[in-house]
Amino acid sequence: MTRTIELSIVAPLYNEEESVGHLYKAITDAVSPMGLEYEILFVNDGSKDKTLDNAIALAKADHHLRVVNFRKNYGQTPAMAAGIDNARGDIIVTMDGDLQNDPSDIPMMVKTLREGYDIVVGWRHNRQDKLITRKIPSMIANRLIGKVTGVPIKDNGCSLKVYRAEVMQSLPFYNELHRFIPALLSVSGARVAEVKVKHHARQFGESKYGLSRVYKVLLDLLTIKTILSVASHPMRWFTKLSGIPLLVALICTILLALDVNESNLVVETTLAILFFSTAIFLISLGFLSELIFAKGNIAIGKLALLTAQLNSEKVIEPESRI
Ligand code: UDP
Ligand code: MG
Repeated sequence: MTRTIELSIVAPLYNEEESVGHLYKAITDAVSPMGLEYEILFVNDGSKDKTLDNAIALAKADHHLRVVNFRKNYGQTPAMAAGIDNARGDIIVTMDGDLQNDPSDIPMMVKTLREGYDIVVGWRHNRQDKLITRKIPSMIANRLIGKVTGVPIKDNGCSLKVYRAEVMQSLPFYNELHRFIPALLSVSGARVAEVKVKHHARQFGESKYGLSRVYKVLLDLLTIKTILSVASHPMRWFTKLSGIPLLVALICTILLALDVNESNLVVETTLAILFFSTAIFLISLGFLSELIFAKGNIAIGKLALLTAQLNSEKVIEPESRI
């Protein structure tokens, strides 16, 4: 018999041996009363402790739980992506696996989604993390993401998010990009809601991140900027700039050909070669920029298409689903 899964809960786990049992219980307590056909996907991201063993032991005792295993540590976003890839639910919930997100928020978020949204984003309004290394960098990142995308989401970094499964197709899930999905989708017309969620201090183990994540998020922001091609496209300046050295090289070549001044032969030849190489270098950069630009346009095109498909469907059908 094939069951239709209505709700999938995805949590990446890296060295969370102590949290995994509590997490399983908290998720089960929160979602089983919802009366939906659900599954929990724990993605073990190459943990070096007993996370995998503990998760497998739980999965053996409960068919709702499935475990996806990475032999190596790939990072939170790829782990999340693998969970989403394997999820079979119509609605997908992502969350951290360290009990900082609270599964008891899931029913409220699913309810909000069913009021007519494609994504519901958690807002950790009383975030229990360090001020200097977490809250301040996040505040800056959220402002920047809002500026670049024009979508003022207060807490892009909150892993607790609820999605209609359709919106998860062909999304850019790499680096730290899971943070940008709501803003990206919202730009292309998806309906995004942001709701206050609980947040707890880490109980077991330790955070896997340092300040270097800020740098990664900023790099991703550049990618997003390219994808959205919000501003005029500055990379195209490379091609335009190549005109200057090309012109100088041409003048040197003409002077050489005309044999104006024999004593300057070596200087003119050197200059011609130098400026030609510079021009070729700039044209190549310009060509690469065009490729990136085109890729960005394809990505935004895909998003727009996806949203068009989404919006052409009837979204709210709670009576038939609950
Ligand atoms: N995580 C992961 N792979 C990693 C780093 C983290 O799967 O390489 C998981 C981790 O187990 C947790 C979630 O991602 O479930 C968030 O990580 P963490 O709590 O370290 O981040 P923070 O809360 O400090 O931002
Ligand atoms: Mg955490």
